[in-house]
Amino acid sequence: THDGLDFSTVLNIRKKNLNPALFTFYRKPVYIHQGHMQYLWDTNGRRYIDLFAGIVTVSVGHCHPTVGRAAQEQMKKLWHTTNIYLHPKIHEYAEKLVSKLPGNLKVVYVTNSGSEANDLAILMARLYTGVFECVSLRNCYHGASPYLMGLTALSTWRYNSPTGFGFHHTMNPDPYRGPWGGKHCRDSPAQPGRQCDCVEGECHAKDMYVDQLEDVLRYSMPKGKVAAFIAEAIQGVGGAVQLPDGYLKKAYEKIRAHGGLCIADEVQTGFGRLGSHYWGFESQGVVPDIVTMAKGMGNGYPMGAVVTTPEIAATMGQALHFNTFGGNPVACAVGSAVLDVIDEEKTQALCADVGTYFIQALDSLRSEFEIIGDIRGKGLMIGVELVKDKVSRDPLPGDEVASIWEDTKEMGVLIGKGGLFGNCLRIKPPMCLTKADVDYSLAVLRRALQNHSQRQ
Ligand code: PMP
Repeated sequence: THDGLDFSTVLNIRKKNLNPALFTFYRKPVYIHQGHMQYLWDTNGRRYIDLFAGIVTVSVGHCHPTVGRAAQEQMKKLWHTTNIYLHPKIHEYAEKLVSKLPGNLKVVYVTNSGSEANDLAILMARLYTGVFECVSLRNCYHGASPYLMGLTALSTWRYNSPTGFGFHHTMNPDPYRGPWGGKHCRDSPAQPGRQCDCVEGECHAKDMYVDQLEDVLRYSMPKGKVAAFIAEAIQGVGGAVQLPDGYLKKAYEKIRAHGGLCIADEVQTGFGRLGSHYWGFESQGVVPDIVTMAKGMGNGYPMGAVVTTPEIAATMGQALHFNTFGGNPVACAVGSAVLDVIDEEKTQALCADVGTYFIQALDSLRSEFEIIGDIRGKGLMIGVELVKDKVSRDPLPGDEVASIWEDTKEMGVLIGKGGLFGNCLRIKPPMCLTKADVDYSLAVLRRALQNHSQRQ
């Protein structure tokens, strides 16, 4: 039962006392009361399938009992000492986390958020290389600090205020909207007449996008030197844009040839979500120099991390570096339990199985509706791009997307939204989603799209 404030009081407080830029997703906002695994309940007791997981943050399930128990047990013993004293938790956690990473990625800095992790990663790359300039992809989101607002290249998330200097954005290798395609570029070129010269069985779009990166390095980097390149394997906030196969391999080679470090942002793609691999970068066949993570690593408990090599980590010894809450015993107990649950429940394999089932079902839905332009993603990191029609690919106007969305919520399914035009549905549920949940969600989405057609 719900014993909190009533709906209208909450809305009033929100208007008066909370961040005015904080949007409520729906025309009639959902007032959530409780969560369990892949489900949420509102204060009227209505159940929703949560396909957005608090923006890809609830990894193994809302209020997962094993994770909850680990937090409670630790809270009985010790909440905080700061890591100037020895304490078992951060050590146990660091050892367990690095066992999940390849190569020489052995040194862990625990933070409280993804933004803190990316700030630190950029700092390390600059200290290590002695170079200032960094490159990211257009359409990327890497955090909200003033520093990272310069790195992020989604104008909707940038204020007209000084941001970090020395950040450059290269052309996004977007298979759907980019000039050279990359995924279906031969059968449905992004821009007819400008597609790449694919030969049978191999797509060359990635090479063209990497040439653009080379151009940025050549024209903008003093003496051609770069500190870092950062990317996600599938862009989260940007609308689940999946980089063409092989892009990161070539991009990493290029960056390393210019003396730079490669940073993989795994804030959304990590911890088995892609199904095929534990980390997003593995799906591109690369090993980064620095990995950042957050969100799912705490299943909703605030924590983040940077993992790097001992050589790169050593540069931080040039001055004092300290984070009061980062790596506190409760966070580390939670993070450790999350890693155990992912192993015990075979979460990665579930993502592969249920995610592939979901993507295949969405692909067939795409053939039924003219406004479904693209289905993309891997495992349980899926994007559905809504357009006016399949030929023009013009984004579906915001009010039409909002109506579809409102409809799905009314029928008990919460879906995310993203992309520069806000026309991409983002499906990134807790990783315990079942095929029965997929069937229900699909039926709801189909009904919402039918309702949309009838309104036109
Ligand atoms: N990187 C990526 C890929 C993200 O999606 C986000 C958050 N949306 C961040 C970094 C920043 O994380 P946080 O909000 O925890 O600071």
